[in-house]
Amino acid sequence: MSHDPITLRGWDQDHVWHPFTAMQAYRTEDAPIIESAEGFHLTDVVGRTYLDGISSLWCNVHGHRVPEIDAAIREQIDKVSHSTLLGLSSRVSIELARELAKLAPPGLTKVFYSDSGATAVEVALKMAWQYHTQKLMMPSERRLFATVGNAYHGDTVGAVSVGSIPVFHKVYGKLLFETVSVPSPVALRLPEGFSDRESYLKWCFDEVERVIREQHEQLAAFIIEPLVQGAAGILVHPHGYLRHVRRLTRQYNVPLIADEVAVGFGRTGTMLACEQEAVSPDFLCLAKGITGGYLPLAATMTTEAIYNAFLDEPAAGKTFFHGHTYTGNPLGCAAALASLQLFAKNNVVANARRNADRLADRLSVLKDHPHVAEVRQKGIMIGIELVADRESLTPFTAERRTGHLVTLAARRRGVMIRPLGDVVVLMPAPGMPGDLVNQLCETALESIDEATRG
Ligand SMILES: *Cc1c(COP(=O)(O)O)cnc(C)c1O
Repeated sequence: MSHDPITLRGWDQDHVWHPFTAMQAYRTEDAPIIESAEGFHLTDVVGRTYLDGISSLWCNVHGHRVPEIDAAIREQIDKVSHSTLLGLSSRVSIELARELAKLAPPGLTKVFYSDSGATAVEVALKMAWQYHTQKLMMPSERRLFATVGNAYHGDTVGAVSVGSIPVFHKVYGKLLFETVSVPSPVALRLPEGFSDRESYLKWCFDEVERVIREQHEQLAAFIIEPLVQGAAGILVHPHGYLRHVRRLTRQYNVPLIADEVAVGFGRTGTMLACEQEAVSPDFLCLAKGITGGYLPLAATMTTEAIYNAFLDEPAAGKTFFHGHTYTGNPLGCAAALASLQLFAKNNVVANARRNADRLADRLSVLKDHPHVAEVRQKGIMIGIELVADRESLTPFTAERRTGHLVTLAARRRGVMIRPLGDVVVLMPAPGMPGDLVNQLCETALESIDEATRG
């Protein structure tokens, strides 16, 4: 049965509570209701078509309705849609684990499946904690997690605890466990006491050393978004920072959790971000792009050394007591296997790199824009920070909702984007053709002009 758009709008208002959405404003906005998609375009129930400029929230890779992925899922449906991994296995979950072990940095051979980025992070946090209590050499209770300022690792309570984006996380402060954090190594606005970028960044590097040196005996793990802090506004770390963190965590025996949920699968111009600094973490969290952006599947990968600490007689209680009903869902695994094949067949990472150059070129005009503080870019991840005044970096008032105005202006031009506050985010899919990336840039430029005027 198919319902008319007006009925659907009413039911949306009556029943659907949208994530990360200010519902009072949403109810007045008539946001598109998506009905279908084709390639890199989404179509709504009144037949309007939009370019998907944010990869359906940072996860789509090869476009929508990709014949090879659709076929792989259909074939899997004809075999089995879901069976459990609790004490049982399944063909596609094994085959995918093998492929993930091949593409991960050296040493990450073990794959623990779950359903989302947040669960991939929860798994890493719980494993790290339990690992220390069970490791053979000097077992210990290490309660403290080290994080980077303004981190985002997902929305479950453990993942929120290791996050620190004020607007998202402050509300839940009293609910969270304790962490220690190092400053985010980005220098658009210098804190008091610093006169130049270089000295501030040097201090950020030094703080990593100090925190790890002083607290390493309490640290269960250090968690980081490699190269780019996505949800904080596409904050790009200086080259060498990830390596620096890895060197110190190794030196002081603190496990490193690399949360590649956003940056993985081609977004930064390499398959995984860790590759760019030749870093092997102790835990690797993968989600968003793992299925090509099709189905909720995630993986937490780890090393033999960590895994071995969970081996003993069942009665010893060293089991990892964690699992979700749909852990390693076969449809998700089948989609992920098909997606990985397409990466190779279509040379998707090379395409993403070409698009990165194109984005840099097309957006370079913004460097003189009176309302653009800076354009941040790593690969095909773009954050354009809008300000009321470029010289003083004075923000627009929150009431003005300038980032949101850009979204609405882009929507009128047939392009779907979603900002982070007043940071306009462009996140084309790694497989997007160049002409569509051009269109995305042109629309973004026009929409920024329109939304910042007056
Ligand atoms: C999106 C994101 C998550 C959370 O993933 P979900 O699938 O939304 O739970 C975790 N970490 C990072 C870095 C992310 O960008």
